[in-house]
Amino acid sequence: MRDNILNKNIKRNFISLTKNNIIFTVSVIVLIIIASALFLNYAVRANSGAENSDKSKEYIKWMEFNVPYSTLDKALKYDIESYGKETPLNWIEILAYITAKNWGNITDEKKINRDIDALVKDLRADKLFDELKADLKQYDYFFEAYNAVLNGYLGEYEVLEVVKDESDKEEWVKKYGLKVFSPIARGYGYSHYDDFGNSRSYGYRRKHLGNDIMGSIGTPIIAVEDGYIESLGWNQYGGWRVGIRTHDKKRYYYYAHLRKDHPFNLKLKEGDFVQAGDVIGYLGMTGYSTKENVNNITIPHLHFGIQIIFDEVQKDGINQIWIDAYNIVKLLSRNRMPVVKVDKDFEAAKKINMIPTD
Ligand SMILES: [Zn+2]
Repeated sequence: MRDNILNKNIKRNFISLTKNNIIFTVSVIVLIIIASALFLNYAVRANSGAENSDKSKEYIKWMEFNVPYSTLDKALKYDIESYGKETPLNWIEILAYITAKNWGNITDEKKINRDIDALVKDLRADKLFDELKADLKQYDYFFEAYNAVLNGYLGEYEVLEVVKDESDKEEWVKKYGLKVFSPIARGYGYSHYDDFGNSRSYGYRRKHLGNDIMGSIGTPIIAVEDGYIESLGWNQYGGWRVGIRTHDKKRYYYYAHLRKDHPFNLKLKEGDFVQAGDVIGYLGMTGYSTKENVNNITIPHLHFGIQIIFDEVQKDGINQIWIDAYNIVKLLSRNRMPVVKVDKDFEAAKKINMIPTD
């Protein structure tokens, strides 16, 4: 009997113990489930956050601009000739298409120029560009890259022209074409060759990231494109230099080694807006010195650089992109701004009025 009672007590205790255990275990499991759910939710959110920030950092980190001159010329002609016509052709699309079609290898000018003719023939036969480029995996990359380089080059502008049959009367005539200028004013001689990537040794061993345009001291330097003056002053390497950023923020034009004592157009300061064709400064031989206003360059020349910026971190930091400007300078030689001397400065003799594209 006693044994029985004892047994019962033990049993009861055992049962209550088991009950407590079950309640405890269930509670723990529920807590674990809640905690896991919360953690997973957080983890997923954190992860998608990371994905988002990665996406914002997806920009083009490197590109080259190796389009041959004859190819630029051909695509440009097609674009200008077809403006306002039944099948308008966009030179940037044409260039991106043939580069993607040739997997980026565009050294064979004859072949790629034939590819351009074939593309134009197809488009004029009513084939759709979207379908033609559909299989070209690299098209979007090349379009974005070339668009960053050439976006501001073509557009509508007005030219002051003498009206035929009426004497001394001039009027503004709307046109479409190349609306960017050579950095060297009309009437001033210069020479240059493709020196991009050559080695330089002042300061540290590095590559030449521009095109040197040899000319005489004092040659008026012209703004290639519209933009804002982002930097103006002395730089150890560039000497007196001016840097101009385009509206779309994608291009930074760098003009360096300007003239000693009177390097810039006297009116200009950082932050100012300049128009394509404005006189911004004068060719010289300053630079290669930590001391200001020193001529340490042996041959007078304009160092002309074009930086392409897809993300602001590239401007002065990592993944900087400077492109070979030689063929571009050649192309720009078609538009050379005449200048006149006014007081101490030269001014652009403007008979051309740019119509903003933005
Ligand atoms: Zn240079």
